Amino acid sequence: MGKAILAIDQGTTSSRALVFDTEGKQLGLGQQEFTQHFPNNGWVEHDADEIWATTLASCEAAMNAAKVQAEDILCIGITNQRETTVVWDRSTGAPIHHAIVWQDRRTSDYCAELKQQQNTVSDIQSKTGLLLDPYFSATKIRWILDNVPDARARAERGELAFGTVDSWLLWKLTGGKSHFTDATNASRTMLFNISSQSWDEDLLSLFEVPASVLPEVKDCAADFGTTEPPLFGASIPITGMIGDQQSAAFGQGCFQKGTAKSTYGTGCFLLLNTGTDVLKSDNQLLSTVAYRLKGEPAYAIEGSIFMAGATMQWIRDGLKLIDEAGASEALAEQTGDDLSVYLVPAFTGLGAPYWDPDARGALLGMTRDTGIKEVVTAGLMSVCYQTKDLVEAIAADGAQLSTLRVDGGMVKNNYVLQKLADVLDAEVHRPAITETTALGAAYMAGLHQGVFDSLDAIAAKWQLERAFTPQSNADWRSRQYAGWQDAVARIRSQR
Ligand code: ADP
Repeated sequence: MGKAILAIDQGTTSSRALVFDTEGKQLGLGQQEFTQHFPNNGWVEHDADEIWATTLASCEAAMNAAKVQAEDILCIGITNQRETTVVWDRSTGAPIHHAIVWQDRRTSDYCAELKQQQNTVSDIQSKTGLLLDPYFSATKIRWILDNVPDARARAERGELAFGTVDSWLLWKLTGGKSHFTDATNASRTMLFNISSQSWDEDLLSLFEVPASVLPEVKDCAADFGTTEPPLFGASIPITGMIGDQQSAAFGQGCFQKGTAKSTYGTGCFLLLNTGTDVLKSDNQLLSTVAYRLKGEPAYAIEGSIFMAGATMQWIRDGLKLIDEAGASEALAEQTGDDLSVYLVPAFTGLGAPYWDPDARGALLGMTRDTGIKEVVTAGLMSVCYQTKDLVEAIAADGAQLSTLRVDGGMVKNNYVLQKLADVLDAEVHRPAITETTALGAAYMAGLHQGVFDSLDAIAAKWQLERAFTPQSNADWRSRQYAGWQDAVARIRSQR
């Protein structure tokens, strides 16, 4: 009987692996960064072979750090950067092109063209829960098939396979035996009907993607195959698979309708569980599969912000106002209650709920006595206000959030979490384990292997480290938020 679970957390800038014991305690970590390729303006690529090599090396490092052998590992769970698209040759296992990363905008003209077609946007939204955007995999697959010589013909002959990063890693781990994905990753391709839980023929033909390239879609906890023995020295079952933001929500125990988590890393992703209902957003949020177990999907509504921790990186590296992001907390504490300076970090446009790619950043409300601490504080506050924008959009769509569970590198900052509670007028809870993305994948794999009996058993493991309770009054809240809304209105693009 083994005693550990290996979670692979394949991210946008680094590949990571964590070993957990069967209680969910972290035993070891391995991590490797890999190359970002920017071959053109707005293009972002990864070398899929490098993704695989760094993942494998991270697994070995995590196992060494945890002092476990392959025989000690009960199962593997995979979580991954979503939407990023890999197409490879089924016989050689070689990618036919670099992976096109979720951030890549090369298909934006094509998306704009499609938006002119009547009903396309609404059909896509009602089937997939998504907005027609280059972000998702469908137009990226089409681009590869149309731009790599002979690719389309080879795809039609069944010689090529498509996968998001989960499928690609699974293929490599199983030596080409498994070509599967899970319902959460499938839900980000813009080819998957989230209500019927099947690939959609109309969307396949709209985006000119032959069905022969697609992986089979499984539950998140399922038999995905076993690792090739030479890789780790023994064959290990792979029994969990879930996209990264969904995995963080799973690791945070967001199983009940109305529970929500927000991850504050480079950007911010907020997911609220909507239970067995697909909540169609009228406010430019995404509907997505939160997880699927025993054929039963649970859904979530999702909002994403481009600049959260990245705003602090800009303040640190661009403006050089602070030496490290952590220094922002003490400075903000000195600012006091006058928060009349607003920083709108629309450096790459605005994400949800505005989806305004042409908006640009601004610093507003300065007076002669505005100094470093006010600007730093405005940077931190921008994260709170942007979250409020998401929560307002969620409320307008008819869902309520009472408590927000938070994770990600930025949640070390107590000032941000207190102000977040104040701005939202909601409890903000920071868990004892903030490695929730990897933990979610480990829970998923362990659930299938019987390490955990039920979702209740997993939910019971969640431990509060600190609760932040609203201390603001209604006047302050409405004044501060009105100031933010005014600042955003000034920088929105006119188009
Ligand atoms: P990612 O996984 O997206 O790379 P992380 O979850 O590791 O990001 O979080 C790192 C981000 O959090 C960085 O952008 C950094 O600026 C920010 N950050 C880290 N510590 C703090 C802090 N104490 N206060 C504010 N921001 C912080």
